[in-house]
Amino acid sequence: MGEWVRFAPSPTGLLHVGNARAALLNYLYARQKGARFLLRIDDTDTERSQPAFVEAIQNDLTWLGISWDAIAFQSAHLQQYALAAERLRAMGRLYPCYETPEELAFQRKSLLAQGKPPIYNRAALALSEKEHQSLENTGRKPHWRFRLSEERVNWEDGIHGMMVFEGTYASDPVLVREDGLPVYTLASVVDDLEFGISCVIRGADHMTNTAVQIQLLEALEKNSASRISWAHYPLFRMRSGEELSKRLGGMSLQMLRNNGIHPLALCSFLAKLGTSDALEACLSLDALRQDFDFSKISLAEAQFDPQELNRLNRHLLSMLPFGEVNIDLQKAGIFISTEFWKAVRGNINTLLDVCHWQEVCFGTIESSAGAQQEDPAFFRACILCLERASEKFGTEKMWEDFIKDLTQSTGRNGRNLFHPLRLILTGQETGPELRVLASFMGRTRMMQRVQKYL
Ligand code: GLU
Repeated sequence: MGEWVRFAPSPTGLLHVGNARAALLNYLYARQKGARFLLRIDDTDTERSQPAFVEAIQNDLTWLGISWDAIAFQSAHLQQYALAAERLRAMGRLYPCYETPEELAFQRKSLLAQGKPPIYNRAALALSEKEHQSLENTGRKPHWRFRLSEERVNWEDGIHGMMVFEGTYASDPVLVREDGLPVYTLASVVDDLEFGISCVIRGADHMTNTAVQIQLLEALEKNSASRISWAHYPLFRMRSGEELSKRLGGMSLQMLRNNGIHPLALCSFLAKLGTSDALEACLSLDALRQDFDFSKISLAEAQFDPQELNRLNRHLLSMLPFGEVNIDLQKAGIFISTEFWKAVRGNINTLLDVCHWQEVCFGTIESSAGAQQEDPAFFRACILCLERASEKFGTEKMWEDFIKDLTQSTGRNGRNLFHPLRLILTGQETGPELRVLASFMGRTRMMQRVQKYL
């Protein structure tokens, strides 16, 4: 069957950076090992799943540059889950429970109050046939729990090394809800078996599920767990200390895309953050694939700093060839020349900032408060020198003549000359070389901008 990995988002919202990291690490691993990549849509929660999110997930992955070899919908596999549940019942590993959420919460609380771990007491296992009957007669519907075995479970985690779980570590998990629908654990394990998943790469928040899933795999098919390897990467924390999930609203891929973050900057960031590699932008997913290695992932929680993502974006944009960015620029309705790109690419945080420099060179700018403080004689000298400079031999020569003339007429040079000039001509404190910007502005526009101060 070959090796398979899977990325399994729930279509209950937009993909965020945490999901993107799961997708990317699975993708890089697959491309490195020659494994295939399954996009599994975990849509058993019919109330919260939406087709629009399924579409958004696919668009976001495509934007990231991640392609999939197959797509599967859990909602299409309900029968397989029901069959698996039936087999577990027949083996005595799935048993009906009738406790209400309130009763369970009460039990939990009292166990905690006694300083005991809040593990389900398996009271339902002791119910007699008659008791079952009378509960059913009162109209109660059971949920179904998987009976964990007492055996110790261990696995060699690709990132955490050897993990050992003792038999009595957890409550018997609910696999089938009162309404008959399977919960994530059952659906996920049945699919992992069905699709021959060979490596599960996911966040460390799932680490507590793994021992249960291994037991379930073994119950459904002997020795199947040994065919799967696991790797749980530590989660990010926002720089301010809060968990990423709390800020996810602001960190959807759609939002980052709209804010002009380049997919390769995001992928570089997600692949490198929390690893021993330098946090730097890579020019292709292929380069990221070559560097990808579980052993580089640090066990400490990494800090997600949006400023660092912006830094990578800036760095990436300064390296990308025009041909590549031009496609994205045109999609965003921005049309510029190679020369203009070369002029501004070192001074943008995102592609959208190109528009800012377009305004500066070809549009209208705000007056600069700093320039207003200048000596009026300086403005007059600028006008005179611009009038004398000719564009006959090109804008570069015009600029050269203009600066020479202005230096002589005002006796200024260096920052004393160029800083006020920059404020007058661009309205900005910093930016690309003035000489280069001036070649786009042209002499007439430069004159108009000086005249505003007179
Ligand atoms: N749908 C699950 C999630 O998004 C998948 C977890 C897994 O990879 O097993 O958390």
